[in-house]
Amino acid sequence: MDFKFTPEEEAFRQEVQRFIKEELPPTPGDWGTLESEFDPQNFEFTKQVAKKLGDKKWLAMNWPKEYGGLEASPIEHMIFKEEATYHQVPGIDMGVGGITWVGPTLLILGNEEQKREHLPPLAAGERWWCTMYSEPGAGSDMSNVTCRAVLQGDEYIINGQKVWTSAAHIADWGWMLVKTDPDAPKKHHGISLLLVDMKTPGITVRPLLNMAGHLFFNEVFFDNVHVPKRNLIGEENRGWYYIMIAMGFERTMGVVFAAAAQRLIDELVGFAKGTIVNGLPLSKNPSIRQKLADLAIEVEIARVIGYLIVSQQTKGELPGYEAPMIKVFASETLQRMTDVGTEIMGLYGQLWLGSKWAPLQGMMADTYMNSTGMLIAAGTSEILRNIIAERGLGLPRSV
Ligand SMILES: Cc1cc2nc3c(=O)[nH]c(=O)nc-3n(C[C@H](O)[C@H](O)[C@H](O)COP(=O)(O)OP(=O)(O)OC[C@H]3O[C@@H](n4cnc5c(N)ncnc54)[C@H](O)[C@@H]3O)c2cc1C
Repeated sequence: MDFKFTPEEEAFRQEVQRFIKEELPPTPGDWGTLESEFDPQNFEFTKQVAKKLGDKKWLAMNWPKEYGGLEASPIEHMIFKEEATYHQVPGIDMGVGGITWVGPTLLILGNEEQKREHLPPLAAGERWWCTMYSEPGAGSDMSNVTCRAVLQGDEYIINGQKVWTSAAHIADWGWMLVKTDPDAPKKHHGISLLLVDMKTPGITVRPLLNMAGHLFFNEVFFDNVHVPKRNLIGEENRGWYYIMIAMGFERTMGVVFAAAAQRLIDELVGFAKGTIVNGLPLSKNPSIRQKLADLAIEVEIARVIGYLIVSQQTKGELPGYEAPMIKVFASETLQRMTDVGTEIMGLYGQLWLGSKWAPLQGMMADTYMNSTGMLIAAGTSEILRNIIAERGLGLPRSV
């Protein structure tokens, strides 16, 4: 087993680092902290950056060339995402899910017309996506969705509501789970997956501020929304099986959390070295050193699980129980890190973005507030542990 990157991969990492430093516009305001990329004051910048990355063909570099990719390896794509996340580059998922699960699932399940229509603009950094699964009564158990789509001629007519829809306020298109057969004997047999143009009449997006004050997710209402039947993915009523594939891709985003955690620990180490308390740098405090060392171990574990997933993808395997594993571990590591960070920084750790007194530009307080949501999005830690228990350990389903 050799964990080294090849010289070409190392050279690519340096190319990405150089590009980020030299080519990306200077950073305004509070961009780059978790969940701030779609804030109204930041989104123009996010779009500019995504377009530049799209021009480089890096956003979806592992996709086939005919759909806008470079046919690069999953490892090169991971290197790009690691560097972009570490350097807080916004827009790399083209909304929420565009690159990470909409595109990869379309590549497997979409028909040729759908692939040609949607993949090139995504890869070019020009089309933004949101994902509409959750509803007020359907979260962990997505088979409870009630948002109804009725086929009339060549169109589905949709009525109902979605909630917690990240990036809906900026999205051009939505990846949507709908109920197509309310009488199916098993709930999950009556569900379908649709592609929805978010500018269709009858769609109302109502923003919800998250607890860190960012405009990240939304409620979305559907009032007699007409969607062409050609926007159905695969077969009607098979949506449940399709989103299981999409969720596998979604949970690989733990790779990105691991890179965010790496950045945070590097910042914390810098803070501990540079902050003098009672005549000594914090980095000499035995308790702080122990805590930072623990976190460093956790970040390394998260990274290695991420590399395991990418090595599976390199062999053409779909993400299995390792994807929930990294999502649970990396999101919880990030949260533990903000606990330690706010403790080490004391009252300064509570200062907000924009405060001239805030160390690390207020990154710690912002990440502290946002990290809680990361334990819920893409499946809560409890649900993911259930999946690991069943698929990884072979335990029976719980009662
Ligand atoms: C930051 C963020 C972004 C999000 N973005 C999107 C998005 O873009 N699109 C979208 O569709 N949704 C999105 N969501 C919603 C997210 O998918 C749901 O919140 C999540 O699936 C949990 O559903 P719920 O909130 O209804 O909680 P519930 O399902 O009601 O769960 C409540 C509690 O019960 C626990 N629980 C439930 N069932 C079980 C079980 N079987 N075993 C053990 N414990 C259980 C859960 O772990 C949780 O602690 C987002 C959420 C967040 C926080």
